[in-house]
Amino acid sequence: MDRNRNMIEAEGLTKRYGETQALAGIDLAVPAGTVLGVLGPNGAGKTTAVRILTTLATPDGGRARVAGFDVVRQAGQVRRRIGVTAQDATLDEMLTGRQNLVMVGELSGLRRREAEARATDLLERFTLTDAAGRQIKGYSGGMRRRLDLAASIVTRPPVLFLDEPTTGLDPVSRQRMWEVIRELVAGGSTLLLTTQYLDEADALADRIVVIDHGRIIADGTASELKAATGGARLEVTLAEPRPGAEAALDGLVSGPVDVSRDGVRLRAAVRSGSGVASAVIRAFDAVGVLVDDVAVHPPSLDDVFFSLTGAPAPGAEPQPEPEPQPEPEPQPGPDPDPDHVLEGAVR
Ligand code: ATP
Repeated sequence: MDRNRNMIEAEGLTKRYGETQALAGIDLAVPAGTVLGVLGPNGAGKTTAVRILTTLATPDGGRARVAGFDVVRQAGQVRRRIGVTAQDATLDEMLTGRQNLVMVGELSGLRRREAEARATDLLERFTLTDAAGRQIKGYSGGMRRRLDLAASIVTRPPVLFLDEPTTGLDPVSRQRMWEVIRELVAGGSTLLLTTQYLDEADALADRIVVIDHGRIIADGTASELKAATGGARLEVTLAEPRPGAEAALDGLVSGPVDVSRDGVRLRAAVRSGSGVASAVIRAFDAVGVLVDDVAVHPPSLDDVFFSLTGAPAPGAEPQPEPEPQPEPEPQPGPDPDPDHVLEGAVR
């Protein structure tokens, strides 16, 4: 496999729906055998980009090639080389898992025997052999997603587009799906994966692009994106409380220091994680304060996403609409829990 060859390429893709500029000039380059993770808040343009690259929509401007073929002028060639899984899978509910795979194989031009052999192989690989003879209307969400992915690779396409492959799955099914995806990549497939889950992009993608309002606003490996965000979170545990000890952190931290109620846990944001732990220990040493533990946490992809888009990570639980409430009378009460306030301040 030639990793220098781009299996997915796009230059200046634009697409407008009425007043909405769904894509405002997108460039992509995905080398063979790698995974590109596409992240973005709702309405960012991810699905529009996937629809153009999979020949289901035409761009207004720009160019794109998949497996070396132009997605507009050579759409048929592109279609023969791609597998696509969407959230609304198009398998036949009344057929069994095996019948679905055999049908897809035959529709794609395999002879019956070949299609059956391929179905047996894929059912085994995706741990669906036991359920192979059951109608898929009784399948769990995880089993459906695996069958859908299996169906998309019946013809062994070199390029795969997975649109939110694990949305709505329980943690065990997600892990199983991740294993399957990793096996596909190990076998040489090139993947473009849209996801709402930053940990999924972190775990599976070689590179990540973040799309917002139809534009790419960040592009890099997960570590590059985290490093570009800068900053880290510092947590220091003192051996025993010492009033005013946090003053030792002046100049080392980039914001206020929060001190836990018991006075031993100090937390603050720092501009860069590099060398901070030793500087912190030296600073407390200089004032005779014993330190039990220093932890410097790099930013998570969630932090990156927030700093780039100003929106919470898209996989975050939606907040229910609050019921309209009459304005409450002000009540005297205890101060808010300082630990709770701290979480909000530091992250
Ligand atoms: P989500 O995560 O919610 O699926 P997305 O990043 O995939 O979002 P798109 O579905 O590509 O976003 O939509 C980009 C913008 O284009 C949105 O404002 C959307 O409302 C609009 N849009 C997409 N498809 C159409 C269409 N067929 N007709 C009109 N507007 C559309």
